[in-house]
Amino acid sequence: MPDAPAATCRIGVVVEAPQHSGLWGALDYLCAQPLPLGMLVRVPLGRRVVTGVVWSSTGSAGSGDQAEVVDKASLKAVLEVLDGLPPLPDAWRQLVKFAAGYYQRSLGEMALMVLPPELRQLDAIQWGRRLKRLNKAMTEPSVTDPSVLPELTAQQQAALAQLAEPGDKPYLLWGSTGSGKTEVYLRQAQRALDDGKQVLMMVPEINLTPQLEARVAERFAGRRIVSLHSALTPAQRLRNWLMAHYGHADLILGTRLSVFTPLPRLGLIVVDEEHDPSYKQQDGARYSARDLAVYRARLEKVPVILGSATPSLESWFNALPEAEGGTGRYVRLAMPARVGDGDMPRVRILDLSRSPKQLRGQEPPPVARELLDAIAQRVEQGEQSLVLLNRRGYAPVLHCSDCGWKSGCPHCSAWRVFHKVDRTLRCHHCGFTERVPRACPDCGNTDIHPVGRGTERLEEQLAEALPQARLGRIDADVTKHKGALEERLADVHAGEVDVLVGTQMVAKGHDFRRITLVAAVNPDSALFASDFRAAERQFALLLQAAGRAGRDADVAGHSEMWVQTWHPMHPLYQTLRSYDYADFAAQQLKEREMAGLPPYASLAMLRAEGKTQQAAQEFLHAAVQAVQHLADDIGGITLYPPVPTPVQRVANVERAQLMIESPMRPALQRFLSQSQAVWLELAKQNRRSGLIRWAVDVDPLSI
Ligand code: ADP
Ligand code: ZN
Ligand code: ZN
Repeated sequence: MPDAPAATCRIGVVVEAPQHSGLWGALDYLCAQPLPLGMLVRVPLGRRVVTGVVWSSTGSAGSGDQAEVVDKASLKAVLEVLDGLPPLPDAWRQLVKFAAGYYQRSLGEMALMVLPPELRQLDAIQWGRRLKRLNKAMTEPSVTDPSVLPELTAQQQAALAQLAEPGDKPYLLWGSTGSGKTEVYLRQAQRALDDGKQVLMMVPEINLTPQLEARVAERFAGRRIVSLHSALTPAQRLRNWLMAHYGHADLILGTRLSVFTPLPRLGLIVVDEEHDPSYKQQDGARYSARDLAVYRARLEKVPVILGSATPSLESWFNALPEAEGGTGRYVRLAMPARVGDGDMPRVRILDLSRSPKQLRGQEPPPVARELLDAIAQRVEQGEQSLVLLNRRGYAPVLHCSDCGWKSGCPHCSAWRVFHKVDRTLRCHHCGFTERVPRACPDCGNTDIHPVGRGTERLEEQLAEALPQARLGRIDADVTKHKGALEERLADVHAGEVDVLVGTQMVAKGHDFRRITLVAAVNPDSALFASDFRAAERQFALLLQAAGRAGRDADVAGHSEMWVQTWHPMHPLYQTLRSYDYADFAAQQLKEREMAGLPPYASLAMLRAEGKTQQAAQEFLHAAVQAVQHLADDIGGITLYPPVPTPVQRVANVERAQLMIESPMRPALQRFLSQSQAVWLELAKQNRRSGLIRWAVDVDPLSI
């Protein structure tokens, strides 16, 4: 046996461990000399060698984390120290520790998940080489003359004046679409950069905001700007992350994962479109990057700006003064007016129940005559229209009228969507794809037809109805390939499209100049959804979509937002008429308060997946029973009965969930952390009866 290095110290190292391995904290290792906290090391774990982060300088004795106390003789030694990399800062470790605790994940999973994957595979030698190359590529930033900046509006000035005042509360920048929020971010970022600080600017989906990237790059020419998002190659991601960690990058533009980027000179965090659901990770460690941004800002004592035209009700509630029934924890900065006084488009509610009746069995036209005429008129005037339909594909289902067959997915409790381009039936849940059958698979009838419509069919039908118009479409199907979205957007900007059909993808952020008509042709589906956040999301989507119209003052005067509905009197549409978000939020808050839902209560979901629905539910029932006494001891915790999830079977896996609710967040947190170990044990026992996996989702976005 080769001599192990003389081990003189004992340290705690956090290693990547699967959620359910039962390893929550740091493991003890021996090392030759003391290592700084946050250093990356390679250590043996079972038969593998894994990357870990030095977490405590004393091992389990002083770490305060739950590490097993192991006989010193059996302790293993650190194999390698990746000392080419500066240790991860204290603030980073604190953020990771908080996130792991709050979202009920192991420290190791959280810590290693948020590091660039490449970091884990490199050995120390490769490290040295890479860093040398990186340093050579560095040049001094050439501070360029600020270009001619737009003169700020009165509201922008007021917002920036408040941002300049000392204070430690988060800011909610509540500004209409086109009110110039981005300009406020940029000015505030300029202040931070001038002070020698780094700026973290977060956006929901970087692919959807090429314009913002360009704008930031243009404004801060000469500064080092890096982006961090999932579309980067692993090498790019590593490089950009290193630039940030080394303090070389001045401005980091990133999606939710970027909230964990170590930034030694952090001076400002911006969360644009803070209400966007994509800030919440939906699998694995289900964290909210928006909420962590707020936590991080407090931790590192830097300002954070959350911006939106339609804030999440949580943020809105926090920015409402106590006198108005809120918590007053945030400072609200309001910018109701659009730049250049271009008004929001006039809302027209089109009552479908008053359209001519259809013959039995005949599908209603996608767009009512009145709306079609309005679009035709825009085309004639050389203006653009945007038709919003939040469902992609040709038709959501194929149907045989002889025997009633429908294009169900054999693996999921869902229909397979008909995509006409490649004549496939595709399951949007599990991806199962087949050629469209020529005849009904059950009875042989050749007359199987699409029911309902998605964007693909809408585009086709609009092209038929408006032969003079040039149609375009933007949705996830046509923008799969890199650069495709940019190309399609460029066509719209160049005026080569008269009528743009799209999903929510087009409603967000794009700065269209010549769109004067926006139409939502099937917004009703959200009105009766079981999810309590559906209304909030729909209102945000419609308002965002409306914000795409009339962004140039010269066309703003006659812009319109059409809503085609069977429920014209629905309060959601009635408040949309005046774009009164505050009014809408007040209505929603009242409902939430009565129902005991967020932001008046905290929720967590215990989710289970099993080979059978029974297996999933049995685990949940047992889970409730096993911790009921904990809930009773803590008090104020309600455990609801287990139910199947809305789509209960996906890829042959059955899913069920139960809701846990408490009016007090700390109580819920205490309950969850006490229950984890119990559930972990229980899950082990339930594997035999068909439980596949389980997880806790804290502050779930959908229920
Ligand atoms: P938001 O982010 O609130 O939707 P933007 O910051 O994108 O708004 O501003 C909308 C448009 O108005 C952009 O084209 C932007 O360049 C322009 N703009 C912003 N502020 C001003 C200003 N003070 N003067 C002139 N134009 C402005
Ligand atoms: Zn049939
Ligand atoms: Zn499926």
